[in-house]
Order: sequence, then C-alpha cells, then structure tokens
Amino acid sequence: MMGQENVKNNNQEMNKLRGRQWIETTQLMSQRSGLTFVSGIVRYSDGYYCNRCGTICVAQLPDQTFYCRTCIALGRVCQTDFLYRYEAEQIKQDLQANYLTWEGELTPSQQKISQELLNSLALKQDHLVHAVTGAGKTEMLFEVVNQALIQGERVCLATPRIDVVNELYPRFQQAFNTITIGKYHGQEYHEPNFENLTICTTHQLLKFYHAFDLIIIDEVDAFPFRNNAVLNFGAKNAVKTIGSRFFLTATPSKEQLALVKQKKLNYSLLKRRFHGHHLPVPKLKMLIRPTIIKNKRLNHYFLFLLKQNIAFKKPILIFVPKIRQLSIYREILTKKFPALRFETVYSGDKDRLAKVASFRNGELDILLTTTILERGVTIKHVQVFILDADDAIYNSAALIQIAGRVGRAKDDPNGNIYFFYHQYTANIKAAVKEIKGMNHD
Ligand SMILES: [Zn+2]
Repeated sequence: MMGQENVKNNNQEMNKLRGRQWIETTQLMSQRSGLTFVSGIVRYSDGYYCNRCGTICVAQLPDQTFYCRTCIALGRVCQTDFLYRYEAEQIKQDLQANYLTWEGELTPSQQKISQELLNSLALKQDHLVHAVTGAGKTEMLFEVVNQALIQGERVCLATPRIDVVNELYPRFQQAFNTITIGKYHGQEYHEPNFENLTICTTHQLLKFYHAFDLIIIDEVDAFPFRNNAVLNFGAKNAVKTIGSRFFLTATPSKEQLALVKQKKLNYSLLKRRFHGHHLPVPKLKMLIRPTIIKNKRLNHYFLFLLKQNIAFKKPILIFVPKIRQLSIYREILTKKFPALRFETVYSGDKDRLAKVASFRNGELDILLTTTILERGVTIKHVQVFILDADDAIYNSAALIQIAGRVGRAKDDPNGNIYFFYHQYTANIKAAVKEIKGMNHD
C-alpha cells in the first residue's frame, strides 16, 4: 500500500500523489510543502462526518470508533485516521501547442456550445450543458479540453457509470492520441497516476483533492448517483479553488436550473440531435391485461406490436424492470419465434460487453435488458420496447435516456419507442413532456 514511509520518501512516487487525498493510520514523518492532513472523520454538533465523502457516519467498530460506510470501497476511513492531501502543481513542462488529433467537424449548433464552454473555461466558471440524447456531446468537449491542456491545466471527465467510462475512453484516446489518458473505475483497480487528462467514475473523484482545473461531469442524472450529495462533495473537492465544473445532461435537475436562473451556473441548450432531426416521441401503449398472461402467454397487444416490428428486420431492444424477468421472457419469446436469435443482459453479466457487441454487429435479433443499457449505448436502427414502464425503477430521466437510444443514425433518424404500462405515472408523463418540449422550436 501507499502508506509506507519508504515509498513516501521516493520523490517520483510522491509526485504521483499531487492533487490526491488518501488515508493514513499514523501521522507521516515527511514534511513537504503542500502536504497537509485533516482528521478522517470530523465531529460536528449533529454528528460525525466523513471528510472524504461528506456523509454522516453512523457505523461503529467494536471499540466504538466511528467509520464511514459510504466510501468504504476506496478503503475504510476511521475516526482515528488521517486524511492526507497533497497540493497539485501547475504543469509547465513539455506542453504542446495542440493536443487535438480529431479531424471531424462540428455542426453550427455544436460549434456554438463548444465556444460557450471555451468562454466558461477562460472565466473559470461552472457550466451546465442541457443537450438531447444523441446531440453529440462528446465532440463538443474536444476543443475546450484541448484548450485547457494547452494551458497546462489538468482535466477530468467523470461519469457515474462504468459503461460510460468504457465508451468515452477510446473516443478520447483517439481524439487526443499523443497523450496517455488516465482511466479509473472500480472494476479496473489501480492507483491513479499523474495524468493531464483523466476519465473516471464519479466515485473515483473522492481520491482527488484540488487536483483539476476543469472537471466535466457527464450523465450527471444517472443511477447510481440519485443521491447527489456525495457526487457534489467529491466534485467540489476534486476541482481546484479556482477552477470550473461543467455538467452535461439530457435532464437537468430543478436545483441546477435554479442555479442557472440565479446566474451561478452558465447554461447552454441544445435541442437538436447532431443530424438535425427530432427526437422520436414514445408511443404510449396501455395494457389492460398483464404483460405475461398465465400459462406463459404474452399479452396480445404487446405481441401484435412486436410482430409488426420484427417484420422491419431491425434490431429490437426490450427493457424489463427486473433481472429475474429476463429468463422468463426469453423462454416465452424463443418458443414463439424459434427462428430469431435472442440474448439477455444485466449489470452483473460477465459477458455483457461481448453480448452488446454482437447485438451491434447484427448477430442478434432481440436483446432483452434491464436499465443497464439505458444510456451510453448506440445501436444503429434499433427499435425499443419498455415493458412495465410504470415500474418505479424508471424515473423520468431513465425513460428519456432509453427513448434516446432510438433514431441516432444520420441515415435512419426515426424509429419506434414504445412505453407499455398499466398505470399512467407522473414519470411517464414528465418524460413525454420533456421530449416533446425539446422537439418544439
Ligand atoms: Zn466517506
């Protein structure tokens, strides 16, 4: 572990800790400028708070010492521990005049937002980008990331989901192919190096302290960060005192929009997809009888629409709320359509990436999935069915994201997205309203 004094005395190893925060069980002997510590857990009048993630701690060890359960995946923080922080230094060496090797072109509306982000970077201000699914957010970021790197600034792109990290990393590595990009998430465990550009999960931000001049948080509304307190705490600590945070989302929260109104957050709105077409509006289908009728027969109305879509010979994604339903639907559908190729996928599925890849390559006809594929996945020509869209697992942000899988290709901007439900919920209503609102000029 890093906690050993002999490692700490090695300058090279120590430099990797620039902009980081980490736990030590004993006080370090090393006196370096820029190295400070706070208590791992701090006591306020209303309780004990974790200094790493900001959560109130209620868990205790057998000896009554408090520890933090919320951020325990990064190593346990105890009341008796020290949280060390090592100040980041400005990068001055080996700077390039340009880092961007991407040769694509932005649409005029992408160009406008790219410019607005450059302005916020120059003024060190925070910025919210409200863009529809399929707007081409990643490309809009390239120029501002490039500009920050040219200035010797450190940039971090953080997102709540590992899948999105895996999706973004190769695109950025291709667009900035002269530098090494740091990639960190819980499934690829290694301690961060000192990189100018880092792509990680929002959880990993808790390892950093005043490290970045610019933090871009993508898909800020995504599960598992429904509880935004830890995310906000982490993002605030990881950015330098004078630095910028950019938030990207298709569904901004009320709190964010309130900050925009108070002019504490700059705002860009992009209503059009990169190909200029409208978002496909969900087709609402109320089912009177259950989706699966007894004797393992499917609801006739669902089956009727499914057959209609199968005839298009386009890939079909079917979302179900619960993992255990996947095998049930698979069994029924396989019997009903023996000539079609089916697969199922969920968060704990080891073969998840391979299955999505074969679906993308046209080796599967129908992929049954949980919300794990709600975002970050682009499949050409896909048609989407959401079963039990009234289930509580689908908040409006999730429904908008799922609907956003459809019609992303330039040569096929339309497609079917069905919400099947038994009860018309506030989430369904809000999702459709937001989509229609974005389509309105
Ligand atoms: Zn914590």
